[in-house]
Amino acid sequence: MEITCQKCRRTTELPVCESCGIVAPVPTVVSYFELFGLQLRPVILEEDLKEAHLKLSQKVHPDRFQGRPRDELELAVQWSSLINKAYATLKDPTERIPYLVGLETGKDPKLARTAAVSRWTLSLFNNVRQACEAADALITKKISSRIVAAALLEQRQRHADSLQGLKDLVAKMRERTIDDLKKIDEHWPEATPDKRGALVKLLSKIGGDLAYLAKMDSLLEERLLQLSI
Ligand SMILES: [Zn+2]
Repeated sequence: MEITCQKCRRTTELPVCESCGIVAPVPTVVSYFELFGLQLRPVILEEDLKEAHLKLSQKVHPDRFQGRPRDELELAVQWSSLINKAYATLKDPTERIPYLVGLETGKDPKLARTAAVSRWTLSLFNNVRQACEAADALITKKISSRIVAAALLEQRQRHADSLQGLKDLVAKMRERTIDDLKKIDEHWPEATPDKRGALVKLLSKIGGDLAYLAKMDSLLEERLLQLSI
């Protein structure tokens, strides 16, 4: 991203002026894609993102601004935190997709996150929720005798196996969703504005599915840990 340096008035790349070395103020509106010089699209190469992140973080690393005026050091810290937040958002498709949908529709990414969800996701979520409730009942069950203890142990083991089965299914569905995401990405560059609207709708659903799948995974993981104690 290019700006005019406030000090030397030369055109330079953000965030540090190439000719006088001062740190530019953090822009209030900047897309994370733009920040890293990446194309705005559903799929990004992890190597490209990593490289861009490393390059930018090095430029504003607070260690480079030791002994400089306090406000400049403060700007470097602000840049570092923006860059890290942008990296975390773009790296994870569960964060990246709602963010992209937010940019395309002008909606808050937090709201875009679960605005649309597939029916199969909701039905799987229902199964996961019931299995977790059953697990909670087993986890809190009191042991009154040795025989009960042995039976309970067996029941817990069986339930852990079925939770693991659900967890594997969640992982498989996530893989499939990522495959769908790649298909949308292939059509993205040549999509005309009306076609793009349709793709954004599909993306919105994918974002919702990914968010639900992540939630399911953590619910199951939590119970599996408790059952293994
Ligand atoms: Zn300058």
